[in-house]
Amino acid sequence: MIYLKTDEEIELLRESNLLVGMTLGELAKWIAPGITTLKLDKIAEEFIRDHGAVPGFLGYGGFPNTLCISVNEQIVHGIPSNYELKDGDVVSIDCGTLKNGFNGDSAYTFCVGEVAYEVRRLLKTTKESLYLGIEQAVEGKRIGDISNAIQTYCEKKGFSVVRELCGHGVGKRLHEDPEVPNYGRRGCGPLLKNGMVIAIEPMINLGSRNIVIERDGWTTRTRDRKPSAHFEHTVAIREGKADILSSFKYVEEVLGEKSI
Ligand code: MG
Ligand code: MG
Repeated sequence: MIYLKTDEEIELLRESNLLVGMTLGELAKWIAPGITTLKLDKIAEEFIRDHGAVPGFLGYGGFPNTLCISVNEQIVHGIPSNYELKDGDVVSIDCGTLKNGFNGDSAYTFCVGEVAYEVRRLLKTTKESLYLGIEQAVEGKRIGDISNAIQTYCEKKGFSVVRELCGHGVGKRLHEDPEVPNYGRRGCGPLLKNGMVIAIEPMINLGSRNIVIERDGWTTRTRDRKPSAHFEHTVAIREGKADILSSFKYVEEVLGEKSI
């Protein structure tokens, strides 16, 4: 069942999603060799609570933390730990907030120090594919138009698309219908309507698309242990142009010229 949101509800969703963007911006100031992923998690939790919201992922399905932090070959759902980031790592940070009963959900993959050219190219391609998907997220198109735009672009660049995980509707619940796969056929899938709110989140691998779920039951990594990238925005479907409710502005202000 796909819930269409009113304009008032979309403004509440914008508030939650902007707070995710601000949290990612705060984290961007701290990401450097030597910091543990658990420290980043604490910074995010405090920041979210200081802004009158609660972490959306904490306790969701039993997830133990505020952030999903996935380093290098980890694709998504990594659990914060005492691992210290090191020069050359890439780290996907996925953040959720719950405020006024509505969820925010957005993710960004950061470089730690100097990252290999091919891995930077993976990040850049994944981020670009997210925006190509968003271009398709308008009334009258179909979910498959978003999926196909992402898949076609990433595969053309020589990367592979994770199939087992996908984007989703966002609202009072973190995961609502419809599913938003990152692969698919143009013109297929649910019709996009004004007031739908969806998270689009390409998960793209440097090597093969195959995944493994670690024994912790959460951490999802590439089977070949090559790096993976993940960027996510929550968007509202509108006529003519998607309305991006989350924001990378805060991250990019911090990263400046080092932005991917
Ligand atoms: Mg997310
Ligand atoms: Mg999501």
